[in-house]
Amino acid sequence: MAIPTLACSCSLPPPPPLLRPIKTLAESVVRSPPPPTPAPSALHRPVESLRRGDWVKLICGAGFEDAADVRNLSLVYTLAGVDCIDCAAEASVVSAVNEGIDAALSIASVGRPWVMISVNDDREDVHFRKAEFNPEDCPVDCSRPCERVCPANAISLQRVSGEDEYTRNTTIKVQGGVITERCYGCGRCFPVCPYDKIRSVTYVRDPTSTCELLKRDDVDAIEIHTSGRRTDLFNELWNSLSNSVGHVKLVAVSLPDVGESTVSVMNTMYSIMKARLQCYNLWQLDGRPMSGDIGRGATREAIAFAVHMAAKRDKPHGFCQLAGGTNSHTVDSLKRVGLFQATTIPETFPDIATSLIGCPQAVIGGIAYGGYARKIVGRVLSKLPMHDGHAHIEDYPGFLLEALREALALVGPVKSFNLPPL
Ligand code: SF4
Ligand code: SF4
Repeated sequence: MAIPTLACSCSLPPPPPLLRPIKTLAESVVRSPPPPTPAPSALHRPVESLRRGDWVKLICGAGFEDAADVRNLSLVYTLAGVDCIDCAAEASVVSAVNEGIDAALSIASVGRPWVMISVNDDREDVHFRKAEFNPEDCPVDCSRPCERVCPANAISLQRVSGEDEYTRNTTIKVQGGVITERCYGCGRCFPVCPYDKIRSVTYVRDPTSTCELLKRDDVDAIEIHTSGRRTDLFNELWNSLSNSVGHVKLVAVSLPDVGESTVSVMNTMYSIMKARLQCYNLWQLDGRPMSGDIGRGATREAIAFAVHMAAKRDKPHGFCQLAGGTNSHTVDSLKRVGLFQATTIPETFPDIATSLIGCPQAVIGGIAYGGYARKIVGRVLSKLPMHDGHAHIEDYPGFLLEALREALALVGPVKSFNLPPL
């Protein structure tokens, strides 16, 4: 494996005057040096974060493809110092993430996060589904609870009146429906429809297009979502990606806790990957998927998964990171179970991790934030005036500062940033 290098910090032209408070805030907080550790100096910045236990990943959503929001979320969370941005395996979405990162780096000298794409090995994974219904089937007097419950504003309906072409009577019908690129499959609209009109449509990302994406120089990592119940499907996907995984710096596997067999499933998957794994690997412990925005209790399953994994001695090589229900309560919950940045000296690992041998390594390398991260910044994004469906948040420095403060309040407790008072 080639010796990894530190992200370079380039000298940039100064940002426009109105963006200087943002540069000052981001650089004063995000660039504050971490507590001294015996870090091997040649590691990538995100790998150092994983080793210390302060890695933060923004999950834009495996199915969330609204390029304008993805760009602005990426911009804000890059300024807030995340290590990785995880997005849909779609060329336009990857470009939007990179555009957001570039825009952030033109404002402040912060580290460049890795870009990760998410794929799935079967149709069981709820991250890879969309809601669908025909609005013409909706009774006109429905109070539209589907619209209200959607956390992504992915359902938009209008009642319109017209004239029946035969009778010439005035008719009223419902128009609109699911905005497919905004629906990320959370499923909250399904049970609230009183007329049972909403269907779930599942899909699997095409491995051929994924391979093409992996060969782009703006994708650093891939995450494979698996149910943990069909290692044959995992094997099939891994084989179809095998000519391209050599291009990435990190391979992540996202799986739920399937009970006592979890570790043996992880070991089976690791043995499938091992021969062609030439980079770092990570296990995303997926607690309660797509629920972090619901409230305090949503994080419990991810914490229970962390406790389960921490107790296991025979788990396969790789970093572990939490996701699924993570929110502003996750760090405190991890602290309560004694796992926040708790470290251990790893056993001797295969060649790919020689740079880490003998160094303390966090039992839980960090946290990925999805729905909650999008919700707190999304509240600001929803205030942006749109021009032709697009808005660049940096054109509105007041909103950018507000969004950055929200993002720092989430990322800061993991990174041990000290956020200055307003
Ligand atoms: S599945 Fe979730 S994101 Fe998609 S339309 Fe329904 S509520 Fe909205
Ligand atoms: S709740 Fe069901 S019937 Fe009512 S508008 Fe939504 S999809 Fe249509």
